Amino acid sequence: MNAPNLKATWIDGKRWPQNPTDPAYPNGIDLPCPDPALPSCRMALPYPARRIGHYVIECSTCGITVVVTTAGRADDPRSVAVNCAARQQEGST
Ligand SMILES: [Zn+2]
Repeated sequence: MNAPNLKATWIDGKRWPQNPTDPAYPNGIDLPCPDPALPSCRMALPYPARRIGHYVIECSTCGITVVVTTAGRADDPRSVAVNCAARQQEGST
């Protein structure tokens, strides 16, 4: 599941969530990529995050960067998919 070209860095927001967990996501969220019709890579994230902050997800193949926010709650993201620009140029496989 973990794409080797993706790297996640967590940036600590140094705050704790003020709102309760969204009961719709008791086991975390698998975040979809922005355009599911295009090729994408997925990686697991350390879950749950320690508290409020964000992950910077970086693709070493094409250099794309996406930001995913965390709250340190059960409804944090547990994985994220990224549309890879390099794979889009290769065409879908
Ligand atoms: Zn990429």
